[in-house]
Amino acid sequence: MKIHMQILIALGLGLKRNWHIFFGLIAGIFVGIFLHSHQSALVSNILVFIGQLFIRLIQMVVIPLVISAIIIGITSVGDNKQLGKYGTKMILYYGIITVIAVTIGAAFSLALRPGDGAAQYINSTSAIEVQHQVASTIEAQKGNMLNICLNFIPKNPLESVAKGEMIPIIVFALIFAVALAKVGEINRPVVSFFESVFAATMKVTDWIMYFAAPGVFALTATAISSFGIDVFHSISRYLLVLAICFAIQFFIVYPVFLKIFSKVPVIMLYTAMAEAMMVAFGTASSSATLPLTIACCEKRGISHKISSFVLPLGATLNMDGTAILQTVAVIFLAQMYGVHLGPFVIIQICFLAIVASSTSAGIPGAGLITIALVLNGLGLSPEQLVAGFALLFALEKLTDMFRTILNITSDAVVAAAIADNENEINYDLLNNPEGYKEII
Ligand code: ASP
Repeated sequence: MKIHMQILIALGLGLKRNWHIFFGLIAGIFVGIFLHSHQSALVSNILVFIGQLFIRLIQMVVIPLVISAIIIGITSVGDNKQLGKYGTKMILYYGIITVIAVTIGAAFSLALRPGDGAAQYINSTSAIEVQHQVASTIEAQKGNMLNICLNFIPKNPLESVAKGEMIPIIVFALIFAVALAKVGEINRPVVSFFESVFAATMKVTDWIMYFAAPGVFALTATAISSFGIDVFHSISRYLLVLAICFAIQFFIVYPVFLKIFSKVPVIMLYTAMAEAMMVAFGTASSSATLPLTIACCEKRGISHKISSFVLPLGATLNMDGTAILQTVAVIFLAQMYGVHLGPFVIIQICFLAIVASSTSAGIPGAGLITIALVLNGLGLSPEQLVAGFALLFALEKLTDMFRTILNITSDAVVAAAIADNENEINYDLLNNPEGYKEII
């Protein structure tokens, strides 16, 4: 299909709900800017309440949805060879896309040197409580790589469910699902049970999305009103580098990736994902957005087999936006303190950013905490780290909202590419707005 036709169809989709959320988001930005200079405790409290209500509603369905999606996905693939093939391809694609992300992050930070001269702003912007918070998280994370990996295995799956720890839940669901696939027909009652759970949670997700417009409005307004707009100038070069890297990844890398590895038109995938992207922006959480990411992909033709396998794993393991942030932030701090970065150290930073981003949970702010891993070996003193971080924290929420969009989009891009390669995509549905409307 010609590109202009694709754009026309994409525009013509006229999905009411998307527009509502979009207007909610824009209104949220304006109200947030207004509230920044005209603080009102009552309005803020109401907004926080509405935003939290929305987040809680979607968080409520995440765990049953992830567990049931993985179990149905893996048992429906069934045979080991095919599962291995999907798994290998998924790791390969996620790997390629994240390596590109950190390379872009490193290249632009080294070329534009955002950290030069930023040290002068440190004392004026680092709030004491932020410094304490950062100091304790850095301390808790330092040298803890092995423990972090160990914690991926749940001691007690029910405890992980109760605590909402996504990675251990996913690890358990994966192992359990493979075992179910192995035991043959006897798995039917359990699989049927999870099929019902999945269908019901998707229905609930659809209901919750009627509340998405006010939810995204309130979340955006709350986030924007709390930004220290005055610190914009102190880290404006850092924000510029991040914006360039995010834009390149979103507008160039993903489309080129899809072009090379599949025949999925990027415009169609992005339109299908619009709703999920806006919710990712508002919630700054890939995990909370997961039900919607799955719904958006499946409603537009990506098979359940692929989406239920690739998306839940991607929501915690594949975080391009977070990897970019970590690379840029660490190079920023090194430049700020005049640490020399040789080629070996740069490669180490990129590598650690890939590892650290994939150990981050899909929740707000997780990326700026696991960054402690990437800082290992850079030789900065705890005081320097704390003061530098306090500076980055000032606009953390803003970068989090954007990097979460990248995080979920790259999951969808990889899911679409694998679905295309494996003939698991319904192109009629992907290209046909009417079919889409019927389902919505
Ligand atoms: N908020 C991000 C996400 O949920 C993780 C991060 O902090 O970078 O995907």
